[in-house]
Amino acid sequence: MNIQWYPGHMTKAKRAMKEDIKLIDLIIELVDARVPLSSRNPDIDDLGAGKARMVLLNKSDLADERLNGAWTEYFEALGCHVVKVNSKSGSGLKQINHVVQIACKEKIERDRRRGILNRPVRAMVVGIPNVGKSTFINSFAGKACAKTGNKPGVTKGNQWIRLNKSLELLDTPGILWPRFEDQQVGIKLALIGSINDEILNKDELAMELIRFLVKHYPNVLKERYGIETEEPFHILEEVARARSCLAKGGELDLIKASNLLIDDFRNGKLGRMTMEFPSKE
Ligand code: GDP
Repeated sequence: MNIQWYPGHMTKAKRAMKEDIKLIDLIIELVDARVPLSSRNPDIDDLGAGKARMVLLNKSDLADERLNGAWTEYFEALGCHVVKVNSKSGSGLKQINHVVQIACKEKIERDRRRGILNRPVRAMVVGIPNVGKSTFINSFAGKACAKTGNKPGVTKGNQWIRLNKSLELLDTPGILWPRFEDQQVGIKLALIGSINDEILNKDELAMELIRFLVKHYPNVLKERYGIETEEPFHILEEVARARSCLAKGGELDLIKASNLLIDDFRNGKLGRMTMEFPSKE
């Protein structure tokens, strides 16, 4: 993964998205449930003004269940319809069709008043890289889907995936650009594995993770590695000892320990965790 966003790139992506949004009724925005703010770009609020909005808390299997609830309320308060999903296993996806109908009630009623019956809702999936857009489209659309424009004689252009008689998806997801102005955003996206690790040294990244764990999930380090201390550097050393990360001369290999700790976090081995909170703590 190597995400390079520069101003020209963003302007181009924004322009393309503006055009695509004209074609749709509903924006299905994926966020990573572990970092629901850092994994979204609020520019979508302007771009999607006037459209029905749905937020999927994806990778909810890796996030803290209590906070999944709190984030659901947060996005609902912003006027979005929220579904908690795990696109990899498919859990939560069944609810989506029903929620789409609720989110697009106005459009459906407007069509009905104009005598248009059964025109499918057209939706587009958007999100920053690695949030799970392709996984979601594949599992949601499943194998049964047909690309409506994918027939001989059909003009090239946007391809729609017909999911059922009341829903069509634009087949290419809209890629939103991450916000890098705030360094914390970069750190969190690097920790969940969504951007190039090189923006920070692995040991610095591990120290950030340790500080977060000490503050919000203090028991985890004790349970998994038997660590009692609260001092971040000592914790890293203890992880190295507990996992036998030793360099040639027998000294502790802290880079290896950093990588192990970060991988454990990314793979959910430290338990389900959320790094952001709806209200400031
Ligand atoms: P995209 O860049 O937004 O299209 O993201 P991808 O669909 O390529 O997914 C990025 C990574 O996240 C892949 O390794 C997926 O297997 C993983 N992934 C996607 N959704 C989920 C989910 O709900 N739970 C978990 N645990 N992993 C997921």
